Amino acid sequence: MKKLYFGAHNDALTGLYNRRYFNYKLDDEISRIKRTQSVFSLILIDIDNFKKVNDTNGHLMGDEILKKLSCILKQSMRSIDIVARWGGEEFAIILPETDLNGARTFAERLRKTVEKYDFGLQVTISLGIVSTCDDLTLDELLTQADEALYTAKEKKNKVVAYSKFGYCET
Ligand code: GH3
Ligand code: MG
Ligand code: MG
Repeated sequence: MKKLYFGAHNDALTGLYNRRYFNYKLDDEISRIKRTQSVFSLILIDIDNFKKVNDTNGHLMGDEILKKLSCILKQSMRSIDIVARWGGEEFAIILPETDLNGARTFAERLRKTVEKYDFGLQVTISLGIVSTCDDLTLDELLTQADEALYTAKEKKNKVVAYSKFGYCET
């Protein structure tokens, strides 16, 4: 029973939550902040040039990097934070009770940790952040985080935050 439950909510390779369960938790978090007038931030993460990592070092090495990165994400987070494998080489994090500035500090620290970590080859990530301060809906939140990530991807190894004043590189 426990195994079945784990399989339904978690990604097989990394053990992190899967996208479906993450969306459910995101919905939950939005309801919660509406009730409690609090705030949370959402971060989308994408590994830079991951296709090249696979092409040069093989798919198995790629898998190992995904697993190690998942451990780094878990170790970097508080117990109340929620992390998921969003897609192939993409991850998503909910930081409850965290405003845009707090999320930027966290994301920048994470970016540096990954940059410095010895994976056997250089691995970097790009991160897009949005915070509920701007009163966005679930769809708007995801779209803005995605746009912020897209902007970060123009340079790579960057953190970009969305706010009502526009996109801002950390
Ligand atoms: P960018 O810096 O623009 O993000 O480039 P990218 O190469 O990271 O992005 P792209 O979307 O071109 O390629 C993503 C790669 O991620 C291609 C795919 O083979 C790899 N990938 C996705 N899921 C897995 C997985 O489970 N294991 C491995 N080893 N690779 C994966
Ligand atoms: Mg990608
Ligand atoms: Mg990528």
